[in-house]
Amino acid sequence: MTGRGCDPAVPSVAVIGAGVGGCALAARVRQLGWRGPIGLWESGRGPGGRASSRRSRHDPLLRFDHGAPLFSITTTPEPALLAPLLEGGWIEPWSGSLAQLDGQGQLIAGATDPLTQGALYRGRGGMDQLCRGMLELGGTDLQLNGGCLVRHLERSADGGWDLLDHQQQRLGVADWLVLSGTLLAHPRCQALLGWPEPPLQPLVRQLGDGQLERAAAAIASIDCSPRSALLLLIQPPLAEAWRRLPFRLLSFDAAAQARWGLSRLSIQPLEDGRCVVVAHSTAEVATLHADVVGSRSSVARLPGVTPSPQREQELIEALGAALLAVLEPWITSTALQGAEPQLMRWGAAFPEGPGLPSPLTLCPQSRIGFCGDFTSGPGFGRIEGALRSGEELAPRLLAAMGAAPG
Ligand SMILES: Cc1cc2nc3c(=O)[nH]c(=O)nc-3n(C[C@H](O)[C@H](O)[C@H](O)COP(=O)(O)OP(=O)(O)OC[C@H]3O[C@@H](n4cnc5c(N)ncnc54)[C@H](O)[C@@H]3O)c2cc1C
Repeated sequence: MTGRGCDPAVPSVAVIGAGVGGCALAARVRQLGWRGPIGLWESGRGPGGRASSRRSRHDPLLRFDHGAPLFSITTTPEPALLAPLLEGGWIEPWSGSLAQLDGQGQLIAGATDPLTQGALYRGRGGMDQLCRGMLELGGTDLQLNGGCLVRHLERSADGGWDLLDHQQQRLGVADWLVLSGTLLAHPRCQALLGWPEPPLQPLVRQLGDGQLERAAAAIASIDCSPRSALLLLIQPPLAEAWRRLPFRLLSFDAAAQARWGLSRLSIQPLEDGRCVVVAHSTAEVATLHADVVGSRSSVARLPGVTPSPQREQELIEALGAALLAVLEPWITSTALQGAEPQLMRWGAAFPEGPGLPSPLTLCPQSRIGFCGDFTSGPGFGRIEGALRSGEELAPRLLAAMGAAPG
């Protein structure tokens, strides 16, 4: 178990979630000079959240960027963490070709998708490098507790926080809490994990903090747009045809989405000649298959989640057929042989606005803060928003804790 540091006079912080928002907060408080105890609790195997990469212990060159394949910065000034991440070699400018597909199957070269406006970047060697880089910038005393789903929150006698797992075992303690994902405050946890109510809700009733009440209500009212992702690993020599495609990222316009049920296609060549292909469904297709989680995804391992292999196979086949129909000019059906298709569901891929207003992202009376792409502001619903929200919360949190930097 982890929690408070050795000096009881120095407040400690627990961040739930090691996605872009949580990692940005942790890195930024360090960049501002604060060296107090800070730990991150993450249900996934590693950091990254929706900007993570799936990797294999047995196959070091294998990597699927199964969520966001890139990110964009659209407003100035640029996030404070951007330059150190570039200098440290954790991220790099995106240099791949972009294209858009219309409803007639015609390719329009260039960036026309809202997710590819502005200055484009990607993790160097995988999107998870963005979060790994921020954790590295946070220093070795930053503690990441991976594979830990926080199921319950309790208020400790001294006004701090206890973090508990699904068996009510204590995972950690801290003076201040930051939620960098919506799961503990949003009703989607009821459908996904069979929880009777969002775990923050009983505390909202108990604490009598009007600001926290308004924050919890604003989060609970955010709509989440889902996506299903088809993941393919193509072996040489068949991979050659995929690697020769005239784009690395193909976005589907509205008519193309309606026709094929796909929203994006990401081509990710591996160093050894193999090629990863990730096809994202539309929100409509993912909504129709809300019960199909992807039996090899980390969500499938969470208590309360039941995979449905037959429906999963049907969705894999439907997305695979749509992919081949779209790529008919370049790819033959044999090019999918031996691809071992997998499915991954993003139940809350993109939040829909307006999001959590900035004045509600810190509730000092309850010692709780919020960051992530669900907070309103520039970059809402994207990596930019998650990055900026962590950076924005950091100085306010330190001031509220009365924590002197340095
Ligand atoms: C398919 C897809 C494509 C995308 N494409 C783009 C793109 O091109 N450009 C772009 O900018 N953005 C894109 N996005 C959006 C982008 O990925 C997100 O905006 C960003 O990653 C959000 O970061 P976050 O830290 O706010 O949230 P998250 O990444 O969701 O991080 C929250 C973390 O908290 C963890 N967590 C939550 N609750 C608990 C708990 N109780 N216990 C332990 N851990 C918990 C979660 O596991 C997660 O890792 C895409 C997203 C998806 C799914």
